[in-house]
Amino acid sequence: MNDTTINPCAGCQSNCCCDLRKLKLSPPEYQQIYERFSDRFTVERKGLLYELSVHKEYNCPHLNDQRLCTIYDRRPVECRIFPYTVNQTYHLGPLVLFTYHGKTPCLRKKELFPSHRETRRQVHRLARDTYGSVKICLVCCEGPAYRAVSKLARLLCLKKLAGLFRR
Ligand code: SF4
Ligand code: SF4
Repeated sequence: MNDTTINPCAGCQSNCCCDLRKLKLSPPEYQQIYERFSDRFTVERKGLLYELSVHKEYNCPHLNDQRLCTIYDRRPVECRIFPYTVNQTYHLGPLVLFTYHGKTPCLRKKELFPSHRETRRQVHRLARDTYGSVKICLVCCEGPAYRAVSKLARLLCLKKLAGLFRR
């Protein structure tokens, strides 16, 4: 499939590229793709990542009138992996854990999901472009196994806390 000629989202009535909320970007992605449109969005920093939310009255500045992405070949990682999306990043000393999930509302997600392998590769790229070799970057999908482990960890923490109060 040729990226430049086929856009699988063409024709979809959803507004994924209009209502951009908390799009995560590496510093080069932010500087090269979005910075010049900075009057159209707000930006927060999450560690070294940029998190961009477009003001209500604007779409993504790279969406044209036919609802096609004008920078499809060089769109950001988070656009490439959608309907997966990058979620939390956790910092633990020299480690940074990047997580991603597929709990997004795309109606065509079953057809559009990239493979886990490709998604992981892309998120690694985002991590490396953000942290270089300064940190060790790990990537994890928030699938059922991840959710079970984090639920267990939360329970253990709660138990520990409850124990502290009992003393
Ligand atoms: S860069 Fe392209 S794919 Fe990403 S939000 Fe903008 S128009 Fe959509
Ligand atoms: S990602 Fe899904 S919901 Fe969004 S425009 Fe494409 S097909 Fe529609």
